Amino acid sequence: MLLSWHHTFLVSLLLLGSSLAYPLEENDQGDDTVKRFDEYQVLRVSPGKLGMKVLSDLEQYHSLGIDFWGEPLGNKSVDICVPPGSIPVVEKLLNDTSSPYEVLIQNVQSLIDREAAENDAVDDRKRRATADGSRVNTADKYLRYGEINDWLQNVANLYPHLAKLITIGASYELRPMKVLKLGKPKAHTPYKPSIWIDAGIHGREWIGPSTVLYIIHQLISEQSRDPMVSFLMDEFDWYFLPVVNPDGYEYSHTRDRLWRKTRSRYYRNSNCIGVDANRNFDFSWGKCADDTLFSRCSSTDPCENTYQGPHAFSEAETKAMGKFIYLRRNLFKLYLSFHSYSQLWLTNWGHTQDSPPDSNDIMSLARYGADMLKKKHGTTFKVGSPASILYSAAGASFDWAKGVAKIKYAYTLELRDTGRFGFILPPNQILPVGEEVWGAVKSIAARIYHEVRDAKDMFYTV
Ligand SMILES: [Zn+2]
Repeated sequence: MLLSWHHTFLVSLLLLGSSLAYPLEENDQGDDTVKRFDEYQVLRVSPGKLGMKVLSDLEQYHSLGIDFWGEPLGNKSVDICVPPGSIPVVEKLLNDTSSPYEVLIQNVQSLIDREAAENDAVDDRKRRATADGSRVNTADKYLRYGEINDWLQNVANLYPHLAKLITIGASYELRPMKVLKLGKPKAHTPYKPSIWIDAGIHGREWIGPSTVLYIIHQLISEQSRDPMVSFLMDEFDWYFLPVVNPDGYEYSHTRDRLWRKTRSRYYRNSNCIGVDANRNFDFSWGKCADDTLFSRCSSTDPCENTYQGPHAFSEAETKAMGKFIYLRRNLFKLYLSFHSYSQLWLTNWGHTQDSPPDSNDIMSLARYGADMLKKKHGTTFKVGSPASILYSAAGASFDWAKGVAKIKYAYTLELRDTGRFGFILPPNQILPVGEEVWGAVKSIAARIYHEVRDAKDMFYTV
């Protein structure tokens, strides 16, 4: 009965599609306009199994323009961003499937405007503070990609004995991809156990790159003052890629604040642009379990936000990063990838509900990290694998890091918040997020050091 209703509903939606106020969702606006989100609402839906299936199907009706935001927590709740013209249809659907919902964000554009105003205000303060405008404060505002690279270059210039900036490739739109390596040289061995941290795989998740910059800043500024930080710089090499997807990041700054994917184009006759870089890594690429409810696992539709790409590592960005890590895979003891939002510490695997054989160690370190994170500002992170607490995701970077590069500890962190601001986290949260994540990162790094030392595995070759 319900299923036949579901079928009828979708057929009627299909017919309705052409009469909706919104044209077929286009990924490319074709001109220089900035996309606006006036009266767009974010709804938190608790849909139940049937409602979830219907919502998942709805995403494929691009004319409705629905965008899944926060990470869907199993069948419990999911945040969806809905254009004003589609709100009546979606509300009817939710009511008809007895799916409770609440409005999380009343008007997305007003949040975007506020965020931009706060970011610009920092600019003004900075200009007043430094006449030459050369000092960039990474903890106050979200930086553009060029500013991030300038800042990284500045670190490398100021601390040549500790830092090295490495260009590992170029994006689809030919932006250079820069990795900053930090660490103190160690006598008798050129190879040290290493830690990899990246962010910005998804353009709109701005808090990730800013958190990477904060950690770099702490390692540099504290290494002469804090014995523990000095120790971590002695014993590890640290590799940071603050923005994996620079084209998407820039596009989210200039044209569409909510852009997630890369900016590659594969289909001449399609307006749909970009690949979900976090579905594009070459491990279980495109392999989703049959019972996966969500198209979010990995999509073959170029118009969807989780489009996996025409083949694994189709994207210049994922390929460059994968190659760089793979060549040094024996060195890496920890892989961290920062995303937002939902406050989750995600463990392997993303693509299956099975656990890796060393899952006890993996979960133990993750729980320790989440505890250390909470200590700073009381922020709570839920710990577990995507398949167990969210939905499956195939071709994600942290599964590749574990499955192919064989890095024992590989985590995805979904940073603040839990939905009040979502992706549009105000700049005044950059500092507290940096502080709490840094607290977790240095603690788990110290614990990994002891594990590596105890394993008497301190000599490395590449
Ligand atoms: Zn993400």
